[in-house]
Amino acid sequence: MARFDNCSTIQARLPLDSFSGQLLINKIINGMKNFSIRLPRLGTENAFSVIGKAKKFEEEVLKPQGKNLIYLQIGEPGFDTPANINQAAINAVNNNKTHYTPTPGIPELRKAVAEKMSREVGISYLAEDVVVVSGAKPVIFYMLNALIDEGDEVIIPNPAFPIYGSVTEYLGGKIVPLPLPEENDFNPDIETLKKSVTEKTKVIILNSPQNPTGGVFSEKTIREIAEIAKENDLWVLSDEIYSEMVHDGKHFSIASIPGMAERTIILNGCSKTYAMTGYRIGWGVTKNKEMAAALEKFACNDTSCPSAISQYAALEAITGPQEDVHKMLAEYKKRRDLIVKLANEIPGMKCHSPKGAFYLMVNVRGLLDKLGITAAELAERIMREANVLILAGPVFGDFAEDFVRFSYVSTEENIVEGMGRIKKFVESL
Ligand code: PMP
Repeated sequence: MARFDNCSTIQARLPLDSFSGQLLINKIINGMKNFSIRLPRLGTENAFSVIGKAKKFEEEVLKPQGKNLIYLQIGEPGFDTPANINQAAINAVNNNKTHYTPTPGIPELRKAVAEKMSREVGISYLAEDVVVVSGAKPVIFYMLNALIDEGDEVIIPNPAFPIYGSVTEYLGGKIVPLPLPEENDFNPDIETLKKSVTEKTKVIILNSPQNPTGGVFSEKTIREIAEIAKENDLWVLSDEIYSEMVHDGKHFSIASIPGMAERTIILNGCSKTYAMTGYRIGWGVTKNKEMAAALEKFACNDTSCPSAISQYAALEAITGPQEDVHKMLAEYKKRRDLIVKLANEIPGMKCHSPKGAFYLMVNVRGLLDKLGITAAELAERIMREANVLILAGPVFGDFAEDFVRFSYVSTEENIVEGMGRIKKFVESL
């Protein structure tokens, strides 16, 4: 257990010249003469990059014909930020709360987050266990930066939110993808996980409810993963950004299991629950003091502190009335039921009803075989010919060649129109 007692594996940055020849070759092949050898390893999030291309197509091709594109691809909550939260931001501006704050956040917000997380997770977090950052995403970047040296392995259930893998590879680490079989409700097989652990494994990443599958890991699975983490002295990044979007059953955090809070960093934030993506407020929560200090150090080097205005808005989000959140969550569940029904009515498409988040992975193997195309080609044709934007499974990594991903945050009207267009397109093939 030495690792967790003295923080000995929070790594010392390697000198650049110790990176592998492979990276050097990348550098030469890519002709990126003056850039770092790490840069070619950095990936991106396709949900953002496809949008530029899609908007261009809509402007240049569809609009002149009086047509539009329906966007069913991104995890952007389809609601306005509740008015009381926006008002808190306005008040912050009017009260000149427009300066630097402490790097890990204003004390009242850290305390409010600690109380919220204590209620949700079921263990007692203190303000000092919370590092508030600019969106939830930086927690991934900071945590992996604190841990990963060249050759270290990170077990990532796949398909997955692309940033985990992107940052792992950027740091010279190795992604070890763990399959999430559809027939297992997108839960991993524990025997496969056991076999994936090697001497070089340093981190397991959990994301439940999960993007992109909408899967929720069962409590039994999470308990088994915790045993493996403890036995092998591993860190856990538990991405719980969709924790309040469990449509069937209840959220269960791995950090609540005895012995886990000290080796787990919970990632959460305001973006999804409160429809606050543009405010950029997230947090890392951990009972490991050295890790909290490392997160803070990275945040200081990166942004100094999160936006003061956004922090006051987040404080209102967490401590103010929750009715709007409950309404949004009920609405997502309704939209889930609607899109699942409509997807299963399309020939060659089938899906289970996802238990959480606001994503739907649809198995399109039948359609791909019939047309002799890949999921990426299908998504492209659906954009060009049915005028609906969705994402191909493989943009989320491995084990997703048979799938396309929908998000169901859009309005009911858009979901009906979009799925109707796809059905018509598929029936015309
Ligand atoms: N984790 C997952 C699984 C996500 O889907 C997202 C956003 N799509 C994030 C983290 C990042 O959230 P934020 O926008 O607050 O940075």
